[in-house]
Amino acid sequence: MTHIFGEILSKLRAEAGLSQTELGQQLDISNRAISKWERGLSFPSTENLYKLANFFHVSVDYLFTGQAHLKELRLEESWFDRAHTGMTSLREMYKIGRGPSSSHTMGPEKACMIFKSQTPEADRYETILYESLAKTGVGHGTDRIIKETLEPTPCDVIFNVTETDIPHPNTMDLIAYKDGKEIARQRVMSVGGGNICFENSPVATAPDIYPVASFKEISDYCYEHNMHLWEYVEHIEGPEIWDYLSEIWETMKAAIRNGLHDEGILPGGLNVQKRAKQLLYSQHIDESPETRENRMVCAYAFAVSEQNANGGRIVTAPTCGAAGVLPAVLYYQQKRRNLSDEHVIHALAAGGIIGNLIKTNASISGSECGCQAEVGSACAMAAAALGELFYLSMDKIEYAAEIAIEHHLGLTCDPICGLVQIPCIERNAVAAMRAINAVSLASFLSDSRKITLDDCIRIMKETGRDISKRYKETSESGLATLQIQ
Ligand code: SF4
Repeated sequence: MTHIFGEILSKLRAEAGLSQTELGQQLDISNRAISKWERGLSFPSTENLYKLANFFHVSVDYLFTGQAHLKELRLEESWFDRAHTGMTSLREMYKIGRGPSSSHTMGPEKACMIFKSQTPEADRYETILYESLAKTGVGHGTDRIIKETLEPTPCDVIFNVTETDIPHPNTMDLIAYKDGKEIARQRVMSVGGGNICFENSPVATAPDIYPVASFKEISDYCYEHNMHLWEYVEHIEGPEIWDYLSEIWETMKAAIRNGLHDEGILPGGLNVQKRAKQLLYSQHIDESPETRENRMVCAYAFAVSEQNANGGRIVTAPTCGAAGVLPAVLYYQQKRRNLSDEHVIHALAAGGIIGNLIKTNASISGSECGCQAEVGSACAMAAAALGELFYLSMDKIEYAAEIAIEHHLGLTCDPICGLVQIPCIERNAVAAMRAINAVSLASFLSDSRKITLDDCIRIMKETGRDISKRYKETSESGLATLQIQ
């Protein structure tokens, strides 16, 4: 296997007209390592395998067999046009971290950690937050997380709510000082799901490991090769993805369990009660199985969302604010049907593909496209995951995800006081129930559907662009204007 791999790598490199040193420079890998791989003396890490597959526009499988599937051959011409599909690993979407907001706490935390490591000599920091980060930063605890991350060096946080000439609604400037003089400055965008972008910076971004970025192309491939969506994920990401998704699932389950035991008031001043436990134990005198299902699914969604609002450990799915939808749907089914973790993790992979497509072709950021991009995306992910759990056809899975997005189109993001509590917590529960209904509808009606998932994702992006900025995580309009006691 190592020998074949070496021959294929050597051939691809020769076809590209590159020396080992030149290839190494392109990929930030030593030429000695490449030489060893080509001679069959050692083998690249998974990360380097992805780099190579992405660089040569071949699948990871091709590196081992030298045989392109028919579908790959047909797509090959277009692959060169789309060296950057934008579809990165599911690891870039499912992330473990502390709430309450992937864009307002996880992203800034990551940016500060990187900036701090680049400026160890700084004796003072200043951070300027713009637009959504400035307007809802206090409610989300952005200033607190920035100061904590940069400790013990002191940091002044400035909220600039007037500047509009910025590249992204979640923009921040990080400035380092030494003896009163500025020594470094970085502009960073927190683009959703805990991901960040440094302006004009060589900071490495995750490779685009998926060769195509539309559901149609993925489902065509799966049909042609008789694959499930989860098998497609393994095909692209390698079997190591299952260890990662196992950890993700364990964290999701822990968030549910912790949330179901928790009681009291959420922080932030709205006096919002934690209600997951109440939902779990309340019961109608003559509760129907359907009512019980709704109550349990809602209890699980509340549990995760309340943990998030409390600054607890959750998984972005695809964001912190929408973290309750997917685990609630899967946990309920696992308990009810006694499903194995392996089965659930395959469903997580299918849901992840949908979230990844939305992230790539539209947005998963409330400040960019409104809540349709957060809870709407989470609902679509949960619908696709549930479809995979039930072994539905690709067509039905697509329809379920499409229904889930379609009926969230235009949903605004206007959390009260910028806290991820009202309407966010209930909204997660409602979306979890909606995902179940979407799967139910899709399993009966997919033959007569008229709209594709890819179209719906495109429309979601256009709708997001048209939604007034006031309804995109700025706390200026809608529910955010209500005075809550
Ligand atoms: S309203 Fe939706 S998008 Fe906005 S913070 Fe809440 S969950 Fe996130």
